[in-house]
Amino acid sequence: MKPYIEWTKEELVAEKARLEQEFAEVKAKGLNLNISRGKPAAAQLDLTEGMLTVLSKNEDTFAEDGTDCRNYGVLTGIPEARKLIGDICEVSAENVIVYGNASLTIMFDTVARSFLKGVAGCTPWNKLDKVKFLCPVPGYDRHFGVTEYFGVEMINVPMTPEGPDMDMVEKLVAEDDAIKGIWCVPKYSNPQGYTYSDETVRRFANLKPAAKDFRIFWDNAYIIHHLYDDRQDHLLNIIEECEKAGNPDMVYEFVSTSKVSYPGAGIAALISSEANLKEAQEYMNFQIIGHDKLNQLRHVKFFQNLDGVMNQMKKHAEILRPKFEAILQVMDQELSGLDIASWTKPNGGYFISFDAMEGCAKKIVAKAKEAGLTMTGAGATYPYHNDPQDSNIRIAPSFPTPEELEIAGQVFVLSVKLVSVDKILESK
Ligand code: PMP
Repeated sequence: MKPYIEWTKEELVAEKARLEQEFAEVKAKGLNLNISRGKPAAAQLDLTEGMLTVLSKNEDTFAEDGTDCRNYGVLTGIPEARKLIGDICEVSAENVIVYGNASLTIMFDTVARSFLKGVAGCTPWNKLDKVKFLCPVPGYDRHFGVTEYFGVEMINVPMTPEGPDMDMVEKLVAEDDAIKGIWCVPKYSNPQGYTYSDETVRRFANLKPAAKDFRIFWDNAYIIHHLYDDRQDHLLNIIEECEKAGNPDMVYEFVSTSKVSYPGAGIAALISSEANLKEAQEYMNFQIIGHDKLNQLRHVKFFQNLDGVMNQMKKHAEILRPKFEAILQVMDQELSGLDIASWTKPNGGYFISFDAMEGCAKKIVAKAKEAGLTMTGAGATYPYHNDPQDSNIRIAPSFPTPEELEIAGQVFVLSVKLVSVDKILESK
């Protein structure tokens, strides 16, 4: 296909008529498809069935050290759950606190605590005139939602396939002591599926922030979420790199088993230095007497160890891979060469990031909706829902079947082509 921009006006008008006809036919089917959120499909949830019965009797409810998991206590999580998360993150169990079922709660809570109590003896953020966060974009909408809720000023930092623009990050954090944090999804990022390079991770570990209470919010949500056996990204261990750089307290790492076991009932953890965990624990002391240890125990009994977890991830990948491939194939086939879009082809994670021509994303999402395809709202991948180029769209292929995804892909590419042809015609 030759780029649309090189087509004559007459050719484009004819193409538009053809696309409109096709679109009307698809619309008439009354589809109801949704590729808006990174929700595992039921077949993935079924993989964890054994966990529902792994504790079936009173005597099953004891942790390795004899703790009765039905009762109160053990604020930092049972030792075997801390070890399992530690093994996933390549850190020691002492660096881990296991919380409840959602890492997002821990992130929210960490920001809340910083506002209320401050970090490492520094002024609580709610007493400061201005608190700023760096936000690699496009990024995860719920991260931006947390900082928006607290009135934090969010500064966009462009993402590259190697991670955030580190020249900009280094410069900004060194200059401005109002910058207190940065949101990162370092592996199989949401939405691009990029993994930070070794150099990026080392530059993070060696940051020299003006603010003593600056923290990296390292959301490693997709740490083991590979799609392929033979094409796996590798991410350096930030906890280790920060220690080596003499900055052991600069990072909070977050993980969960939301997309390993159950998103509604997994286990989530904070991984950090001894000093940071102590501070988190002092706050937690007033919040809770202990999280759900039965669930922690269920996870350990079901998975046994890291091998058990990795085995489960392979089964997830077998379900997810054909879905990514189904939609990518439609995009490759229908959009390649037209020069109206670019998109990522991740080796893992839950998303594909799609960039349309400037000023087209909102119209494309609205067009797709007309034909029964729900997508993540355009702009959601930017702070304040404001994509300055109006070009980024997040695609989440995990929930529908591969067959549905092929249809979703057809609706999507039709919408992309229609909106792009209109845009190009305007300039002819
Ligand atoms: N972080 C990222 C980057 C995510 O994509 C998601 C889920 N979409 C979460 C966190 C949510 O994790 P949890 O279920 O542990 O709150």
